[in-house]
Amino acid sequence: MMERFTKPFTQQEPIPDEAIAAAMEVLRHGRLHRYNTLGDEVAETALLEEEFAAFTGARYCLAVASGGYALGCALRAVGVGPGDRVLTNGFTLAPVPGAIAAVWAEPVFVEVTDNLTINLEDLSVKAGQGAKALLLSHMRGHVCDMDRLMEICNAAGVIVIEDCAHTMGAAWRGVPSGRHGLVGCYSTQTYKHMNSGEGGLLVSDDPQVMARAIMLSGSYMLYARHRAAPPPEAFERVRYETPNVSGRMDNLRAAILRPQLRALPDQIARWNALYRTMETGLQGTPGLQMTVRSEEEAIVGSSFQFLLPGWSAEAVQTLLARAAARGVELKWFGAAEPQGFTSRHDSWRYAPAQSLPETDRILAGLIDMRLPLTFSTEDVALVARIVRAEVLTVAQGGAEVPEFTRSAD
Ligand SMILES: *Cc1c(COP(=O)(O)O)cnc(C)c1O
Repeated sequence: MMERFTKPFTQQEPIPDEAIAAAMEVLRHGRLHRYNTLGDEVAETALLEEEFAAFTGARYCLAVASGGYALGCALRAVGVGPGDRVLTNGFTLAPVPGAIAAVWAEPVFVEVTDNLTINLEDLSVKAGQGAKALLLSHMRGHVCDMDRLMEICNAAGVIVIEDCAHTMGAAWRGVPSGRHGLVGCYSTQTYKHMNSGEGGLLVSDDPQVMARAIMLSGSYMLYARHRAAPPPEAFERVRYETPNVSGRMDNLRAAILRPQLRALPDQIARWNALYRTMETGLQGTPGLQMTVRSEEEAIVGSSFQFLLPGWSAEAVQTLLARAAARGVELKWFGAAEPQGFTSRHDSWRYAPAQSLPETDRILAGLIDMRLPLTFSTEDVALVARIVRAEVLTVAQGGAEVPEFTRSAD
């Protein structure tokens, strides 16, 4: 009998009861704006910043309106401006080059490897060609050799900002993701590791950079109400020189996030159990290439990727359709036209066109799937059996091409 999978790949877990109670509290008192406090009340947003700074080991933290806002705010705070060249991964998500374009800087794409990390040789070359910063995307949670990356960027005088949208809670050689570069940026959008619908966080140890980020986010002259901010001296000049590019987080979202942050280590263990189940289930499938995860990497397996090296577009489409017919939603980064989240460097035509043959070869066979925590390990084992069987069928040329079905996102 043909097994089928029936759960949606985009369904997150409900917001925990403790977070709902905290949200109700904020709704009842009505002080949703982070600077709307009574007496010596400490706002939920300020508490979240303090707790997230402690979670990452950073001196300073700022909560903002979205992950994309955090990236743009970090670029501005480190001094990136019009015409500056900013390096970023050839494989990343649209808000990353978008944040570079939003400060009128120029995205310069760096090749990626078969393991979906930035190609350090190509980075070496491009870092030496006058780049101001690297907006490093730990895309889909794949972390490169961060020690080597920092050596390259430090030697070339390139500022590193980390996009940790998929690595909140991950680490390289015991150092949390987001703590290697000058600034680490995180997202609390629904599909990331904590869910406030929309939201973002920035961490840094640099008092001037963080003072500028806080002013940029729209703190007016109320920065003294933060608890994970640099001392008032850091704001002396900055407060006159920094525009207000309003993008604060509010107390309602912060209230939902604080209990989720406490639960994050347990959630990470659950994600990794799903990830390892998928890995085991797909191991040794002919025609399918797994990514290799370094021993130095502490992962958060909230999504899973594999490659179909050398497959024709037609064969990949056949696989996608056959898997979809059995309830398994696979995303493909190699389609001619971007769909949903799968845009690529050649879809971002506001940036100068660039030649990335390695990245193009990899993306042509790159398959992506989410592993939401609403899945059990049994669910994931079933998904793996379906993918394995369909890859085998298509690779052996025994597939009939069914009508192409496509999910909404
Ligand atoms: C989601 C995401 C972002 C942006 O986060 P938003 O909160 O949606 O703005 C940035 N980078 C990557 C890699 C992402 O996946």
